[in-house]
Amino acid sequence: MKYEVVIGLETHTELATTSKLWCGCSTVFGAPPNTQVCPVCLGMPGVLPVLNKKALEYSLKASLALNCRINLFSTFDRKNYYYPDLPKNYQISQNHLNLGVGGYVEIRSNGGTKKININNVHLEEEAGKLVHPEDASADYSLVDFNRAGVPLLEIVTEPDMRSLEEVEQFMQTLRNILLYNEVSDCKMQEGSLRFEASISLRPVGQKKLGSRVEMKNLNSMKAVLKALEYEINRQTGVLDSGGKVDMETRLWDEVRERTERMRTKEEAHDYRYFPEPDLVPMVIEERWLSELRSMLPELPLTRRNRFVEVYSLSDYDARVLTEDKAVADYFERCVELHAAPKSLCNWITNDVLRELKERRLGIRDFKVRPEALVGLVVMVEKGTVSMPTAREVFADMASSGSDAVKIVEEKGLLQISDREELERLVLKVLDENPSAVSDYQKGKKTALGFLVGQVMRQSTGKANPKMVNEVLIQKLKTN
Ligand code: ADP
Ligand code: ZN
Ligand code: MG
Repeated sequence: MKYEVVIGLETHTELATTSKLWCGCSTVFGAPPNTQVCPVCLGMPGVLPVLNKKALEYSLKASLALNCRINLFSTFDRKNYYYPDLPKNYQISQNHLNLGVGGYVEIRSNGGTKKININNVHLEEEAGKLVHPEDASADYSLVDFNRAGVPLLEIVTEPDMRSLEEVEQFMQTLRNILLYNEVSDCKMQEGSLRFEASISLRPVGQKKLGSRVEMKNLNSMKAVLKALEYEINRQTGVLDSGGKVDMETRLWDEVRERTERMRTKEEAHDYRYFPEPDLVPMVIEERWLSELRSMLPELPLTRRNRFVEVYSLSDYDARVLTEDKAVADYFERCVELHAAPKSLCNWITNDVLRELKERRLGIRDFKVRPEALVGLVVMVEKGTVSMPTAREVFADMASSGSDAVKIVEEKGLLQISDREELERLVLKVLDENPSAVSDYQKGKKTALGFLVGQVMRQSTGKANPKMVNEVLIQKLKTN
């Protein structure tokens, strides 16, 4: 590779407040159009915005989690532009004194960690949404203002990423941090989390950055990566043929899988930013800030490393467990109740996560609570039920929410560990399979596995497999 890839991301995330940034309107997603609006978020003349304290709290939490320095004195600015989904013809944002500055996110890269620097974190308002009729010949569009005024946090990185792997790591790590701090639901399909990427190439060894292309309309993490890959190839082609890359904004075309010019630098907007006169500056008290700082949860990567160290889990298992904070909390609650981290981890990463996926549930709504899962795991350890039976019981618990002990009793699933009963079963099987018995006695050891299988089948999976093995070997000797 002759060129080094340089990438920076601008992330927009809708904050999880129940009401909007400047008024009391609801922020619930998916309501009928224009049912969550009022004179303030419709930008009627004479109205005044009042800052939602919760939105500020979430912004500060996110900024702290991203290791930013907080501007204790911070202001709002007007970003002026015309678009039909913007009722006031300006967006209230921050341009001059951003809430958070100079932070970083630590990501995994090449087996080690790397810091991706955050230039700033700032708070702004969402615009509404244009709805274009399906009928292509229609000569109108509709506008839905439910989203107008929803609090939006923008997180701007320095151009620190050098590969698609780093971009992917960054997006996932950032999403996890926001989820861990419960400041946004990060649902990309509902637009709660959106990325814009800037990318340039420069000859390896060159200090000066190449001219950047900014990409919009990236609706998923996959789209971000695909668009970047496309741009790397396009820009490589331009540079290889002796041309120069134009500084411009391009749109990702999801269907045709290519980027297209949206506007060049010359056409770039002049937003004529100026201080927002309808809002006073924000003065953040040190006391509030340290209170928020003390409430910060352990971050995903730290937690993942701790899981490896404290519970002796593999890095892979630790990653799966810590991807979702609620799952990690569930795991730790289980371990608190019963110190068997490895087997609890197996249950959660395999069975629990599969059930959640099939049922499209978050773990908080899962019927099998930590106490119940631990109950089941203990039954397996004690040999009360076999592993296959336990899986069956678990599936039942997941749908009925019933207790393991009760299900086992009702269905008669207790593992057969009674020696006499097992001996009876074994003798019956030996009797019915003379050829396998003689194979075994002729030295064909695999015949044992077959016989164990037969006993398990006759017991409908309830026999204790370890005991079956013992009894079989003993009976085969004396047979
Ligand atoms: P502007 O002020 O024009 O919006 P910024 O400096 O805010 O530009 O940068 C916007 C985004 O572009 C940031 O995420 C930044 O990391 C990224 N960026 C800036 N310069 C480059 C470059 N030469 N190559 C790639 N990304 C860049
Ligand atoms: Zn409103
Ligand atoms: Mg910018």
